[in-house]
Amino acid sequence: MELTTKKLLIEAIKDQQNIFGDFLLENVNESVEESLSKKSAAIKEIDKIEVSLTENLFVENFQKAESLTDLNSQICDCQKCALGKTRTKFVFGVGNPNADAMLIGEAPGRDEDLQGEPFVGRAGKLLNDILRAIKFEREDVYIANILKCRPPNNRDPLPGEMETCIPYLHKQIDLVKPKIILCLGRVAANGLLDKKLSLGQLRESVYDFNGIKVMATYHPAALLRNPNWKRGCWEDVQKFRKLYDDLTAN
Ligand code: SF4
Repeated sequence: MELTTKKLLIEAIKDQQNIFGDFLLENVNESVEESLSKKSAAIKEIDKIEVSLTENLFVENFQKAESLTDLNSQICDCQKCALGKTRTKFVFGVGNPNADAMLIGEAPGRDEDLQGEPFVGRAGKLLNDILRAIKFEREDVYIANILKCRPPNNRDPLPGEMETCIPYLHKQIDLVKPKIILCLGRVAANGLLDKKLSLGQLRESVYDFNGIKVMATYHPAALLRNPNWKRGCWEDVQKFRKLYDDLTAN
């Protein structure tokens, strides 16, 4: 390295000392190469801190929850969409926090809104019967909805409501870590899988959500309205049980 270039570099490094402090340059007489290498390491560290600060700015507190209880307490007063104003009770989810099987519906109905628990009332009782028919108790699985608040008159959730609320469900899935998910109804399955398919199409395949197997069947409320669909549901849940047994065999 030429003498003038070396002198210039030493001057530059001295200037940088004001920015990066003594940790960068303990001794200006050390070799220029060593100083440059320290400077480069310091810049990389600063870059890392900047990335981490930027990431944290965009991570909401609920995403840092370490348990379902913690998550529930962080989001139960949510008012991110208009349904927060009209709900009676926030409906978080219920069941085994370490369940291998998770059931997902679209939104609370009247009974759920009153009791603060998903799948209660007539539809809930039918769901319990369906679960028992495939040798599950309600307490074995984890049950949640895409929306945590009831849409007025049980209308379908609006796309904006689903988009706003679904990160909570994603976090619940992260915490429960199920091996398999059964979506109850077209809206729940399309919402989770981000698809626009008919329930008939959704029932034909096993899907993947972040490495978790996903199946779809009828919503119990739909089965109450149309008992002819019970046969199809029975076939679906038998497949679901078989896949669950395969996935949990080891
Ligand atoms: S539906 Fe979801 S996003 Fe809307 S207020 Fe309720 S919890 Fe919040």
